Amino acid sequence: MIEAEAMEAAVLNASGNLTLQDLPVPKPKAGEVLVRVEACGVCGSDKQVLAGEAAPPGTQLPVVLGHEIAGRIVQFGPSPENVPPGTGGAGNNGDSQDTHRIRDGARSWSLGDEVLVYPFLPCGHCRLCTLGFENLCLSQEVIGYHRNGGYAHFVTVPLSSLVRRPHHLPAAVAAPLVDAFATSFHALWQVSKASQRDRVLILGTGGLGLSAVAVARAIPVQDVAAWTMRQDEESFEHARQTALAAGASFLWQGTPENARAVSREVRRWSEGGVDVVLDTHGTQASMNIGLQLLRPGGRLCVIGMDNSEVTLPSTPAWVRKGIQVLGSYGSKREDVETLVSWVESGRLNAAALPVIELPLSQIHTALAGKVPGRAVIRL
Ligand SMILES: [Zn+2]
Ligand SMILES: [Zn+2]
Repeated sequence: MIEAEAMEAAVLNASGNLTLQDLPVPKPKAGEVLVRVEACGVCGSDKQVLAGEAAPPGTQLPVVLGHEIAGRIVQFGPSPENVPPGTGGAGNNGDSQDTHRIRDGARSWSLGDEVLVYPFLPCGHCRLCTLGFENLCLSQEVIGYHRNGGYAHFVTVPLSSLVRRPHHLPAAVAAPLVDAFATSFHALWQVSKASQRDRVLILGTGGLGLSAVAVARAIPVQDVAAWTMRQDEESFEHARQTALAAGASFLWQGTPENARAVSREVRRWSEGGVDVVLDTHGTQASMNIGLQLLRPGGRLCVIGMDNSEVTLPSTPAWVRKGIQVLGSYGSKREDVETLVSWVESGRLNAAALPVIELPLSQIHTALAGKVPGRAVIRL
């Protein structure tokens, strides 16, 4: 069934360089499946690692990078141990390699199924995991850092990582649902509790910012607008078009010179102060903007991570106003499942995040960040 024995893959080696290598096609172990990768989104965290920032703790080098995977199941692992007796998933002879269906709890998978791969692997038994904060699990591993990821033609993943792919959605459009969209969704829906009453301002117009605009529209919040720090006209114009197409009512360009004038416009739009600010930068400059624009009782939710120090204003400037400063990290598998159902019902427009498809041979171009829109490696 797997005709190829070798595959090309983009490998991050111990010295921090990314090279294209021929690797053997991996074999799924018990409880795993082999996925033929069709598309793998290029996440900002990969760009940061290539630019010299630290990979997530515990990253195992060398590793095939890539954690926004859309593909198709082509092989099951050899052991039926993960299949409860009597569910019939592994076939009568107990050898799942010869069968076309396998069960994982309530889910059933068939060879050829179109899937997304939820990239986070929480430990499942620590205190955070048992309290329902598995996205914050300190022992969490990530596909594409702790084990080989999707910048390759094939990847093995645990059965528990599989999420059904929305019907009729191209693989390259579906791939960012598992990370860019899921991170924005978790932050807006689970952490900020953004609702129909809220005017939401998104700071940043990268993959996270644009997906957040689309998620805010899908919730739907009362209104959503975005703010970009992009200075040059060409890049601003691209950001403006994509943000408005994703559903933003306005895109403001904040520069140090015009910050005051733009802030006045935002206040007018929000009738005195924004209810929820989602900050995809996580810098002092972006957090200052967010804190200034919130109404009393508003929420500043930060999803961008920047290694520079940030300080909060003096306490009267935010405690007296009852402002909530929130951090939101990653997502849960159930977030991705909700997004898939929203896409299928037409509630969420996944195409709001414009993708630029590139072959694996152009992985370095994709990771250099020179591509307008979300780069997705097409395999
Ligand atoms: Zn990511
Ligand atoms: Zn855990």
